[in-house]
Amino acid sequence: TVKRAYNLNAGPSALPLEVLQKAQEELVDFKGAGMSVMEMSHRSKEYDEVHTEAIARLKKLYNIPENYEVLFLQGGASLQFTMLPMNFLKEGQTASYVQTGSWSEKAFKEAKVLGNAVIAASTKENNYKNIPAFDELNYNADDAYVHITSNNTIFGTEWAEFPDTGDVPLVADMSSDILSKPVDISKFAMIYAGAQKNLGPSGVTVVIIRKEFLETASENVPTILSYKTHADKNSLYNTPPTFGIYMLGEVLKWVEAQGGVEAVAKRNEEKAALIYDVIDASNGFYTGHAVEGSRSLMNITFRVADEELEKQFLAEAKEAGFVGLNGHRSVGGCRASTYNAVPYETCQALANFMKDFQAKH
Ligand code: PMP
Repeated sequence: TVKRAYNLNAGPSALPLEVLQKAQEELVDFKGAGMSVMEMSHRSKEYDEVHTEAIARLKKLYNIPENYEVLFLQGGASLQFTMLPMNFLKEGQTASYVQTGSWSEKAFKEAKVLGNAVIAASTKENNYKNIPAFDELNYNADDAYVHITSNNTIFGTEWAEFPDTGDVPLVADMSSDILSKPVDISKFAMIYAGAQKNLGPSGVTVVIIRKEFLETASENVPTILSYKTHADKNSLYNTPPTFGIYMLGEVLKWVEAQGGVEAVAKRNEEKAALIYDVIDASNGFYTGHAVEGSRSLMNITFRVADEELEKQFLAEAKEAGFVGLNGHRSVGGCRASTYNAVPYETCQALANFMKDFQAKH
């Protein structure tokens, strides 16, 4: 058997072992082509099948309605911070941004470069420990869009439910919780996500966009940065990240084999509960960052009561084989990322390690 680390990385992060093994098998000879997917033309019949199937599979698996396009882009979620306002924030309009962490701040900053962006709500004063209540969101009926970050990778908070913004287009950065649970896609005008947490390797960015919203995009956008370009060309306007898309397709097949998004969601809840239960039963030895009701099922952020002890905790965890448990460099503390592909056993091992560490100290 292969030795796999207890991988709790925040992204890029764990991929399913089965997917890696299949990719390994197909690496030198993909379906008799005598070459890997990396080596073939993005205009070849073989690649076209990989590409088209991945799009179709995501639509089916995630229950994406007919009137949405799925795009595979590059530049990470960070490029979406720019592309979104470039395409949809027109002169004379305002876009409203909900600030729930560092990534929302970055999205907002880029929008301000290109147009009039305002803050619809912010939980910064509370050190981003919570998601705002729906009635705290201030946006206007004529806004170009309202932007939210569905899961805050660094602070470990997540929207448990999404607001109904009526006729105002709702846009979400779902980089760190896409495909982790069923979502009513029809609530959103657009969803975007870097693939490197729940979908595959880095290098692919998924955009799910409502066709009626896409129609309203500005025409005055550089070709490569226009959503219309990519939608018109089925994400084959230029060379796409072919190998990443192949891997993404394989991850989708794996999710299917797990029983689909609902089954994966149920397991994600169980996985996160293993760790949150240890935190809650620790009598303050461990403290979670997020308030109840805003807790992320993907990134579990916590501190160890005493700073010296926290250093020791992280050092011993590393020694015990846990990788990626340090909090983001901007906030410190500890963070366990428990994305779709992180096995239940990894979460169980961490929960046991945490209990043992507390018992020893
Ligand atoms: N948004 C969120 C919520 C993220 O977690 C990240 C990356 N960790 C980004 C955006 C930036 O993504 P990328 O590195 O793909 O540009």
